[in-house]
Order: sequence, then structure tokens, then C-alpha cells
Amino acid sequence: DGCYNPPAAPASVIMLGDSGVGKTSLLIRFRDGRYVPSYFLSTVGIDFRNKVVVVDGTRVKLQIWDTAGQERFRSVTHAYYRDAHALLLLYDVTNKTTYDNIRAWLGEIREYAQEDVVIVLIGNKADCSGSERQVKREDGERLGREHNVPFMETSAKTGLNVELSFTAVARQLKSRG
Ligand code: GDP
Ligand code: MG
Repeated sequence: DGCYNPPAAPASVIMLGDSGVGKTSLLIRFRDGRYVPSYFLSTVGIDFRNKVVVVDGTRVKLQIWDTAGQERFRSVTHAYYRDAHALLLLYDVTNKTTYDNIRAWLGEIREYAQEDVVIVLIGNKADCSGSERQVKREDGERLGREHNVPFMETSAKTGLNVELSFTAVARQLKSRG
């Protein structure tokens, strides 16, 4: 419309979930479109600024923060939660414990994050099948429904639903203004 619109501040997004679920891998896949060997990942957390996702023709700017070494409960600082606009909450479909811990993560989120924080629940490592898999997709879907948060399975390894999960975050951020 020819009018000047000041650039919007990016929305702050935090990757959450137990150690080893694939937070860093998923973020690198989203940023670079590649899968990194695990020796590189061990304890590093990465963050980057201003990845733009386009939702229905609107640009949504995301600033995404990884967490590393803060994966034990009560160790992600309260300020960290308070400033977040969206949370990608991951478990690992090959590790039932990480799925069981989602309830505790959600409890902590309800306690410390903004009331209207956007949450997307992710079951990562969906490329693993057969006896490796400990959590069925239906279990993830049910947990998402129970807590009224969108759910999807992803694979940082194959790229399955990686763009989609960040787009889901952006879409909800947009709809909440
Ligand atoms: P983080 O601790 O949550 O950041 O998890 P990492 O990104 O460090 O990943 C932990 C381990 O899981 C590494 O060995 C990764 O290579 C592996 N991993 C991460 N994502 C996937 C995935 O989608 N599929 C498979 N098969 N392995 C994955
Ligand atoms: Mg990590």
C-alpha cells in the first residue's frame, strides 16, 4: 500500500526437550538443510537470528534458540521461558522416557512461560522403525490432543516435516498477532 511498515521484531522460539532427542539436529536441518554427524553435536547449543518463514504470503521472522546442558528440569531459566513466544517441544520416538517426560516439560512451561505461548509438540527420529521405535505416532497424537497442542513427527535425518514444523509455529504466531 506504499506506506512504510517498520520491520517487526522477530519472534523468539526455543527448542526444548530432553538431551539427545535431536533439538540441535533439527535446527541445523532447518537452517542449512543438512544432517550433521553426531560427533559434532555432543554438547553444543546453537542459535541463529531471523530466519524468515512465509505463511500465506506473510513473512514471519523467527529467532530460534537451542538449549544444551539445560535439559534437566528446573535448569532452563525462568527468564528464558518468559521471553519466549513459541516453544518447539521434542521427544524421541525411539526413547519412551523422553515421551514420558513431556508432561513434566509442559508443567514447567505452564508455570513459567507466557500464557499465550505457542507450543508445537514434535516426535523426532521418525525415520527409525521396527524394534527401534518405542513410541507410536498415535501416542504422540493423543498427547497433543490432551494438551491442545499441534503434534507432528519429524526426522532431522531425512528432513521429514522439518519445514512444516517451523511453519506450524509461524502460522500460530501469525494467527495470535
Ligand atoms: P539434542 O541433545 O536434543 O540437541 O540432540 P542432538 O541433535 O545432539 O541429537 C542426538 C543424537 O540423535 C545424535 O546422535 C543425532 O545424530 C541423532 N539424531 C538427531 N535427530 C535424528 C533423527 O531425526 N533421526 C535419527 N535416526 N537420529 C537423529
Ligand atoms: Mg543439542
